[in-house]
Amino acid sequence: MSLQELVDISRYYGSNPEYVIAGGGNTSFKDGATLFVKGSGTSLGDIGAEGFVRMDRAKLAHIWEKQYPKDADEREAAVLADMMAAKLPGEEYRTKSPQRPSVETLLHDILPFAYVVHTHPALVNGLTCSQDGEGAAKALFGEGCIWIPITNPGYILSLVVKQALDTYLARNGKPADIIFLQNHGVFVGADSVEGIRAIYAKILSVLEKKITRKPDFSGKTRLCRDSETIAQALAACAGQNPKVVLEQNAEFARLTKTVADFSPVSSAFTPDHIVYSGSDPLFITITDGDPLEDQIRDAWKGHLKKTGRPPKIAAVQGRGIFGIGASEKTASLALELFTDTAKVAAYSESFGGPRFMTQDKIDFINNWEVERYRSQVAEKP
Ligand SMILES: [Zn+2]
Repeated sequence: MSLQELVDISRYYGSNPEYVIAGGGNTSFKDGATLFVKGSGTSLGDIGAEGFVRMDRAKLAHIWEKQYPKDADEREAAVLADMMAAKLPGEEYRTKSPQRPSVETLLHDILPFAYVVHTHPALVNGLTCSQDGEGAAKALFGEGCIWIPITNPGYILSLVVKQALDTYLARNGKPADIIFLQNHGVFVGADSVEGIRAIYAKILSVLEKKITRKPDFSGKTRLCRDSETIAQALAACAGQNPKVVLEQNAEFARLTKTVADFSPVSSAFTPDHIVYSGSDPLFITITDGDPLEDQIRDAWKGHLKKTGRPPKIAAVQGRGIFGIGASEKTASLALELFTDTAKVAAYSESFGGPRFMTQDKIDFINNWEVERYRSQVAEKP
């Protein structure tokens, strides 16, 4: 058991797009009184030992004894301050060390396993973002897993998981090593990296066998009818030198046929999808004969009025999916996360169809300081 093994397994999952995209997910290792947890805004794929923040577990345990404000913003700020204070001495002076431990640090700490690997695989989210997810999870993984209903991330999520873990332990006499989080992802814990790999391999192979339709991304191209005109019109709407990237493929063609065909991907499945591709993709219905620019501008205006935010994804009927961002990187990230949304939607068909986050949970993420911090980190070149 070692920090090096944590680095290795983090890179293993972090560089496999089936498990981790866009720097999502986080990992940890416990060594007695110390927790090594991924720093917020660090990517697992190329992480080194310096990418982990060393935390004092006794101080983290104290957080459970405290009373925090009822107001969500005040509470999260107070918990963050206590988490920052739980960093071991010296952490703030290591120049390469990220200053802020992962927002999921408390969850890592309460899982009684040496290694914890948390990811958001599309295949797993096909289950966690589906109508029959909880029933299917219990049927497929028996009593070996815990299902956590949709919960705001941060302190509240840690609290809900802690209670579920305690109940599970009391009932079964051993800790749960698979925790499915509805509309979020999965936590896996084991005392060895081999154990982590075995559990993940089991989860993915069991789910793989249940999938009735896989998304079809064949025929991928960066061109479509009117692509130039549409990209220019979208850029003009977004203002301030935005970048627009386009993708068309068989799956996107299927989703952009009509506004009804777009409904399985028309909202947000998880917090990560919101951070990078927004909670409200814009669908633009095209009437042939009318000027494209006008139709796009009107749709954009209507979207701004309705949601108060410019879209990061525009689906243009019969053309393709456009990612919009302040830089090429953020526009591509938006498209990448939307592609994941399309995967999750397709997989969810095997478990009763898609289930989006509820509006209050979407609003929480859109207004959450922690997620603004993450998207700011993503903006950095
Ligand atoms: Zn997560």
